[in-house]
Amino acid sequence: MTRVLVIDDDRLQFRLVKEHFRNFRRGTYELDWSETYEDGLARLLSGNYAVCLLDFRLGDRDGLQLIKEATRKGCHTPIVFLTAESAECVDIQAMEAGALDYLVKGEISPGALERSLRYALKLGETLDALRRLATRDELTGLANRREYERILSEEEERARRFGQPLGLVILDLDHFKRVNDTHGHGAGDAVLKEAARRIAASIRTVDRAARIGGEEFALILVQTDGDSALEVACRAIAAVAKEPIDAGGGLMLGVTASAGVADFPSDASSSAELFAAADRALYAAKERGRRRVVAAREAR
Ligand code: GH3
Ligand code: MG
Ligand code: MG
Repeated sequence: MTRVLVIDDDRLQFRLVKEHFRNFRRGTYELDWSETYEDGLARLLSGNYAVCLLDFRLGDRDGLQLIKEATRKGCHTPIVFLTAESAECVDIQAMEAGALDYLVKGEISPGALERSLRYALKLGETLDALRRLATRDELTGLANRREYERILSEEEERARRFGQPLGLVILDLDHFKRVNDTHGHGAGDAVLKEAARRIAASIRTVDRAARIGGEEFALILVQTDGDSALEVACRAIAAVAKEPIDAGGGLMLGVTASAGVADFPSDASSSAELFAAADRALYAAKERGRRRVVAAREAR
C-alpha cells in the first residue's frame, strides 16, 4: 500500500484526483487529503507518506513556499506539482524548488498521473540511497565526517539562536593499532563495528553519533552543558570497555576508549573551536593514561 498525500485547497480537485486513482491499472494507493498549507506541511513532515501531490496555489500561500519550507525542515518525500497554469516559468520554478514532476490539471489522465507517481517514487528511492551513501559511514552505519560537520554547524547555529548549550564528545579507541597488527584488519573492523554500536547506544535519540576518523567518534549532544556531556562521555567509554568484544572466530578482545569533552558556549564560540577544545581534551586524556574522560576546562 502506497500512501499518497494530496495537498489542494479545492475539494473538487481532490475528488477529480481520487477519480483518476480509481482508474489506475497497477499498484494500490491510499489517499489522504490536506486542504491547507499548515496541515499539509505537518503531514508531510510526519514522514508517513511515500509521495505527495501538491497544488501550486494554496489560498493566499503557494506550493513553492511549502516545498521549500518542508525541505528546509528535513522532508525528503517526493513531490509532484499539480497546477492550473501551464507556463514554462512555473514548471522551472517547481523543478528548482525540488519537485520531481509537474502536471497541468486540465491535461492529466489516469495514465499520465499513474506514470508520474511511479517515476517520482522510483527517483525518490534513488535519491534516498544516494543521500545514505553520502552521509553514512559504511562500516558502522553512523553519520560520516562530512555529515558530522554539517550537523555540528547546524546545531551550533540553533544553540546560538536559542541560547542553549551544545555538548561535544570526541572519543578514540585506545591502542587500536595493536588490534589490527595482532589480529588482522578483519578483527579490527569487527571491533570498530561493535564499539560504534555501544557508543551510539549510550546517547538519547535527539543526539547524534558520527564516525569522524578511523577509530575516532563524535557525539553531538543538543541542549547539553559540559557537566551533562561529561556524564554521557563516561557512559560511552564505560559501554565500550564493559565486556570483551567478539572480534570474530571466537576471539574476544577487551577494548578501552578515551574521550575529550567540550561545550558551547563555555569552552568555545564556534563549532570549529568546539571541536578543537574537545580534541585537545582527548589528547590530554591519552597523555594521562587513556581509558578516561577529560573536560576541556581541565585541559587548557
Ligand atoms: P591511541 O591509544 O593513541 O589512540 O593509539 P591507536 O593505536 O589507537 O592510534 P593510532 O592513530 O596510532 O592508530 C589507529 C589505527 O586505526 C591505525 C589504523 O590501522 C586503524 N584503523 C583506522 N581505520 C580503520 C578501519 O576502518 N578498520 C580497521 N580495521 N582499522 C582501522
Ligand atoms: Mg586510537
Ligand atoms: Mg585515532
